[in-house]
Amino acid sequence: PNQKTSKPEWLRAIAPERVHSRFRQLKDTVAELGLHTVCEEAQCPNIGECWNGGTATVMLLGDTCTRGCRFCAVKTSNRPPPPDPLEPFKVAQALAEWNLDYVVLTSVDRDDILDGGADHFARTVELIKLVKPEMLVECLVGDFSGNRQSVERLATCGMEVFAHNLETVARLQKYVRDRRANYQQSLDMLREAKKLNPRLITKSSIMLGLGETDLEVKQTMLDLRKVGVEALTLGQYLRPTPQHLNVVEYITPERFDHWKRNGLEMGFLYVASGPLVRSSYKAGEYYMKNIIE
Ligand code: SF4
Ligand code: SF4
Repeated sequence: PNQKTSKPEWLRAIAPERVHSRFRQLKDTVAELGLHTVCEEAQCPNIGECWNGGTATVMLLGDTCTRGCRFCAVKTSNRPPPPDPLEPFKVAQALAEWNLDYVVLTSVDRDDILDGGADHFARTVELIKLVKPEMLVECLVGDFSGNRQSVERLATCGMEVFAHNLETVARLQKYVRDRRANYQQSLDMLREAKKLNPRLITKSSIMLGLGETDLEVKQTMLDLRKVGVEALTLGQYLRPTPQHLNVVEYITPERFDHWKRNGLEMGFLYVASGPLVRSSYKAGEYYMKNIIE
């Protein structure tokens, strides 16, 4: 059977609400300013819910990545075009107009740029805070190949949430992520960010359904807690194209609930866990309710 017909029922029939005025407004400015959003480019099924609910994920530093993770459909090249130097201003301008409470900034990995794009990222955050100080900013960043200065630049630029995804359990790292990424480097980076700025909420995400065992999932969650990570998301891996890794298993919604309970018991302040949960899924909703007081 092809992948589509073998997908379980809980992953089918998602009809996002795309007519709400906030959704239209975002769609128009994204096109007008030539910005990229992960929501659109990854054809995220949650787009109606997120955009209308006040959360969007903006992609910085272009649409071409220097890495090639085996679960990810983003275009890759060793020499992507240089980033648009005006991008930080354009993003801040767009966000000043949008009626959003929470933005997630993310990017492709740029191993071709000396600081991995950290300064470009940080300037975008600083400009957003200048034009709209009440906007809450989460940055979902790569590992900057362990570059400490890049982590420091970002950790102290004014963002509220520092996110970096472990993606999978230790054993499967080399099959799933680009060979330049690894488990320990990612954990070290999360630890370092929190140490440099203890006010940051650190966050990470893992995909399930790649062949990991329960014991491995548990160990990964414990390792994240050990480096101070407070927010965790767990979602089902879905193969973006037939060239990408196969789905080994569809995890049931009940199992995702089990991991959520487990995570809260381990001391995570927040766990989003479900088949369609993505790293930034309704990020704003959580943040607004639980952290800002
Ligand atoms: Fe965008 Fe993330 Fe929401 Fe998907 S889950 S619509 S990528 S903010
Ligand atoms: Fe995709 Fe990120 Fe891997 Fe690049 S580093 S291929 S954008 S997951």
